[in-house]
Amino acid sequence: MKIKLLGKNLEELKALAAEEGLPSYTAKQIARWLYVKKAGSIEQMTDLSKAAREKLQQKYEVGLVRYSHLQSSSDGTKKYLFPVSCAHTRALNASCSGREDVKLEDGAIEAVMIPDDDRATLCVSSQSGCKMGCRFCMTGRQGFHGNLSAADIISQFISVDESDRLTNAVFMGMGEPLDNYDNVMRAIEILTADWGFAWSPKRITVSTIGVLPNLKRYLDECKCHLAVSLHDPFPDERLEMMPVQKSWQIADVLALIRQYDFTGQRRVSFEYTMFAGFNDTQAHADALSRMLKGLECRVNLIRFHKIPDFPYGTSSDLIIENFKKRMNNSGITTTIRASRGEDILAACGMLAGEHKS
Ligand code: SF4
Repeated sequence: MKIKLLGKNLEELKALAAEEGLPSYTAKQIARWLYVKKAGSIEQMTDLSKAAREKLQQKYEVGLVRYSHLQSSSDGTKKYLFPVSCAHTRALNASCSGREDVKLEDGAIEAVMIPDDDRATLCVSSQSGCKMGCRFCMTGRQGFHGNLSAADIISQFISVDESDRLTNAVFMGMGEPLDNYDNVMRAIEILTADWGFAWSPKRITVSTIGVLPNLKRYLDECKCHLAVSLHDPFPDERLEMMPVQKSWQIADVLALIRQYDFTGQRRVSFEYTMFAGFNDTQAHADALSRMLKGLECRVNLIRFHKIPDFPYGTSSDLIIENFKKRMNNSGITTTIRASRGEDILAACGMLAGEHKS
């Protein structure tokens, strides 16, 4: 199997050039072909000598994963399905070579492009499935199939039809990004480096349910925005919805976040999905405002999209509006997130690698 060039940073490309006896400037040329010109093959890298290309082709490939299916919503949102061969699926299949009865299908992951006036935001996946088991999430119900490599993540940016006009990215697709820390950070390095996509970190938001050890690393090492899935201010209720509350309490997540400065370029927001009769009362709004008091932040209220075998529906528009007003009156900036792509199962919490035909 050939080694993928996509997903490598400049240092690694320099090491690769040295190993192959190519001039060191070749590394920058390859990075430019991969991340600026978005070449799909080594053959296309025409400012490398023919001999250099032939040498590289013996051992390497670009490794771009192209989408296999596309659905468009009536609101302009587009959902892309990517076939992804996850490491643990490959390992299992290799260990069961010849046993078709135990062969696993490779995972499928999704990226969603959300247009909004002059913006085009890509919601990217970081894992195939997810370990975190949030009860309200279709991805969580799938179980975990594997981490995406940096190449898999960057492929989502390059392969979508809107690649050249993307303005923002949110790591809010399938998976918990901070549970795949190294590959997500590598992808962000490629997106923000001047030899890569050269995006400002302000264009990228990473969402987490609060994987505490890696959240600290993220806040220390990365300048991108942070979104935290909070969903309930009361620990016992949050635990009912989100098993992560057992390992990492939301109070500890907030105590950590308060140690960092969010008054400048980097912003923190909190996602709050509204479940009718569960977390949408005035008492919840008041507890949430007390919890976030003094923190420079924003709360996004999200309409819940009903999923099978889950006891709660979405709160009414009136309740959501009143919740918002109560939060804003208490001094916490709160908005209602517009729901996008519901008709193609592309809205928050609906991604499951399934496509409506
Ligand atoms: Fe995983 Fe996020 Fe779904 Fe929770 S909400 S199960 S962290 S994908």
